Amino acid sequence: MPPRGRLADPAAQLVAERAAVCFSLDAVGEQARGCIACPDLAAERTSVVVGDFPERPRFVLVGEAPGAHEDAAGRPFIGKAGQLLDEVLAGVGVDRDTVAVANVLKCRPPANRQPTRAEARRCQGWLERQLALVDTPLVVTLGGTALAWALGHGVRLSDVRGRVHEWRDRLLVPTFHPSAAIRFGPKGGPLAALRADLALAAATTCPS
Ligand code: SF4
Repeated sequence: MPPRGRLADPAAQLVAERAAVCFSLDAVGEQARGCIACPDLAAERTSVVVGDFPERPRFVLVGEAPGAHEDAAGRPFIGKAGQLLDEVLAGVGVDRDTVAVANVLKCRPPANRQPTRAEARRCQGWLERQLALVDTPLVVTLGGTALAWALGHGVRLSDVRGRVHEWRDRLLVPTFHPSAAIRFGPKGGPLAALRADLALAAATTCPS
């Protein structure tokens, strides 16, 4: 998706312009790996975690930002939250290798703090270009940061989860981040909701 009008932050504008002239996912990854639009994050990171994009994925999962494991390995969702995500996906009949996985932010925020709004705005040029190139019909947002990226700040997950939304010429299923499911435990509401929402995404992309 090309940048929609000029952005107020010159660094965000530069990312959007660089992303817009990438014509493959590999090209986006290559450009993003050299990105220093957020100098503090660029100075601390081990990897730019560009995301997993298999060929023709069933849908795209968008989380918040890489953690320590992801930063070290350069892949998204491979720590505890990633293991739970894989289990929940398998439980609804979806192999992790058949879905794309990315984050709003491609660099790890220090001490796993939440991304700032400025960081999320800067990085969205890369993510939106990846979405345009991968062109899947459905996106699943995991947690509040990804929900704010998709639907704006001030939207409550409890008001929008549990159903499929029409969104930018495609479909959107908002749900909890797996780390919330871990925090609230195996009997907590977030895990049940995550299971139900990923089952909904699976059924929507491959109706039985
Ligand atoms: S978080 Fe995104 S925009 Fe910021 S430096 Fe990393 S790749 Fe660039």
